[in-house]
Amino acid sequence: MGRLFIISNRLPVTLTVEGDDISAKASSGGLATGLSSFYKDAGGLWFGWPGISYDNIDPGTGRKIEKLLREEHQCGSVKLTEEELQKFYYGFSNKTIWPLFHYFTNHTVFDNDLWEAYKRVNQKFCDTVVGEIKDDDIVWVNDYQLMLLPNMLRQKLPNASIGYFHHIPFPSFELFRLMPWRREILEGLLGADLVGFHTYDYVRHFLSSVRRILGYENILGTVSSGYRTTKVDAFPMGIDYEKFSKATRLPEVREEIDKLWRQIGDRKIVVSIDRLDYTKGIKDRLEAFHIFLHRYPEYKEKVTLIMVTVPSRSQVPSYSELKSEIDELVGKINGEHGTLGWMPIWYHFHSVPFPMLIALYSFADIALVTPLRDGMNLVAKEFVATRPTERDGNVGVLIISEMAGAEKEMGEAVMVNPFDHDDVADSLAMALKMPAEEQRRRILPMQKRLQRYDITKWAGDFLDSLDEIKSQQNRLYSKKLSGRLRQDMFERYHKSDKRLFLLDYDGSLKHLVDEPMEAKPDDEVLEILSTITADEKNELVIVSGRDSETLEEWFGHLNSGMIANHGAWIKHKGQEWEMLEPLDNIWMKNIRPIMQLYVDRTPGAQLEEKEFSLVFHYRRAVPEMAQVRVSELKDDLRAMTTSLNLGILEGSKVIEIKNTNINKGNSALRFISKAEWDFVMAIGDDWTDEDMFMVLPGNSYSIKVGLVPSNAKYHLDDVDAVREFLKSLLGLNR
Ligand code: UDP
Repeated sequence: MGRLFIISNRLPVTLTVEGDDISAKASSGGLATGLSSFYKDAGGLWFGWPGISYDNIDPGTGRKIEKLLREEHQCGSVKLTEEELQKFYYGFSNKTIWPLFHYFTNHTVFDNDLWEAYKRVNQKFCDTVVGEIKDDDIVWVNDYQLMLLPNMLRQKLPNASIGYFHHIPFPSFELFRLMPWRREILEGLLGADLVGFHTYDYVRHFLSSVRRILGYENILGTVSSGYRTTKVDAFPMGIDYEKFSKATRLPEVREEIDKLWRQIGDRKIVVSIDRLDYTKGIKDRLEAFHIFLHRYPEYKEKVTLIMVTVPSRSQVPSYSELKSEIDELVGKINGEHGTLGWMPIWYHFHSVPFPMLIALYSFADIALVTPLRDGMNLVAKEFVATRPTERDGNVGVLIISEMAGAEKEMGEAVMVNPFDHDDVADSLAMALKMPAEEQRRRILPMQKRLQRYDITKWAGDFLDSLDEIKSQQNRLYSKKLSGRLRQDMFERYHKSDKRLFLLDYDGSLKHLVDEPMEAKPDDEVLEILSTITADEKNELVIVSGRDSETLEEWFGHLNSGMIANHGAWIKHKGQEWEMLEPLDNIWMKNIRPIMQLYVDRTPGAQLEEKEFSLVFHYRRAVPEMAQVRVSELKDDLRAMTTSLNLGILEGSKVIEIKNTNINKGNSALRFISKAEWDFVMAIGDDWTDEDMFMVLPGNSYSIKVGLVPSNAKYHLDDVDAVREFLKSLLGLNR
């Protein structure tokens, strides 16, 4: 196994450079803790920006910085200039992606200049790291500042294991589609082998955007983009549980708690801790607290809200405006409700040292975590981890917003809609009255869960999945018909005298198209097919789901066999069409109205009535809706057809229902059993071709078009690759 490289916008160390004095302080953030054992032990490096702008760093100082980072911290720097920071970090990352992905379209700026800077800096990250990483190494890219990087790396390191984790929400398609550069961003991410999100909702949103914007389908979260596959999955990030749960016993924490006791006494404490950010719902929380004070006057002088707001991104105007609004609101509430001995809100606009943070978590009765949108929210998890389980029975209450990713794993918390200020006020009153027994019943299961799935388990899980996906892909790639495999096959072809070609048409020889007129064979296909038939050692069979009339019109002039309607009709070379099974189509009368109903309910869908089958086409329907309808339709059809000899086939954007004994396998057998072939090749792209692959003799060449699991032994990337391959085989490329 290769080394592990972590890449994130910020390094887990912060540099200070004063003259010749260079120092680097390691951060104790969750990600750094979770990943350190993995990349340090595996001899890797962490690449990112170390927190200083490089405009005025001379080459000598630059080298010293690099030496310090490498030798003492196993880190490498990406040297960003002030302009890059402004446009890439404060600009595109935090004025475009951050607000849009958190559903704040009013704060979202679309500016081509910022986008260009984002691309340039992603490329700079790529150029910085690519020389260090080998093709068998593992690369873990982190977060929204680097969404283009996975594909940039992929171009340079085709075989590396590349994972990407997205630490913020991924919005629904309706929001994501607003992004002018949506295609580039999705393509950028799909360069990874594994794309991870905190919750399954974000996974769904991402897959839906991939389907609707790029047209790539997925099977159980594996997106196939033709040449490659990318697995998309949820990995809810955990915290360093031990660190937080044990911290309450530290003497410096006890000291802070004692101080709080002296200042606050036995008043109830509600704590709220966040970065200053419009996504955190700080203003709404204050509004809700205001309502609470009005509605529940019995808590006057008995409850204090300690609100820690950590300064953040102050160079972005929307953040500084928010700061003034919060200041004003706190002043208004304290002015209206405060008394000489009591201030309802203690407001701290700075970060707090670790012992104070833990003291606040463990001293508080309630944590009020009400973001309007949050990828995960670690504060909620840290609060739960620090709760004393054995003190006067009161273990505390977590109130959490439905819009925080953490809510998915914290079902026992009190859930609120942060926009519903009345609901938040009432929930606060309810939490203050909650019996100790109920508090315990809610907190304990959450603690167990957080302890089990902590930050190290999270990182390990992500890396294990990446490893597994890579092995799966390698199994698939090893079947790619190229290099030595292809050479061997060509040699066998030339040595053989009796060869059978079973070639599927749509999606294998011809790109799938919407317009029936465009599906007609072009000159290149016809040249390939007629070259096959021109050699008397060859027998060609065109295998298709299309009807016999169409095949006759398109290929009738060739000296070939044909299989139509997925196997209902066959035609041997130079003979007449024959029906394989005498068929009974009475079922159609009952099934047709059901399928028609689904067509009526799905704009863009069509019902095709073939001689022996009914086909629901949904290529032109809105993919999202079609997927829902198709699942419903399949359910209905299954229920209706259990006692009949009918099968439901899924092709490319079609559902076809027909007699089960009609399939490409049974009909292919008629050709296979005709002679002693010494070379058999079958090419197909969809589900219906799998029956054909399964009946081939052991030494045949079965070839799947596209990189997806299949019964075929080999695969080619796409229609163009199939054509190139056949032309080489037949000597047409020279
Ligand atoms: N935190 C901190 N110093 C403070 C207050 C909070 O380091 O003064 C930490 C806190 O412990 C948590 C993180 O900041 O780990 C906030 O993470 P969260 O997921 O809640 O929000 P984010 O800021 O990442 O959006």
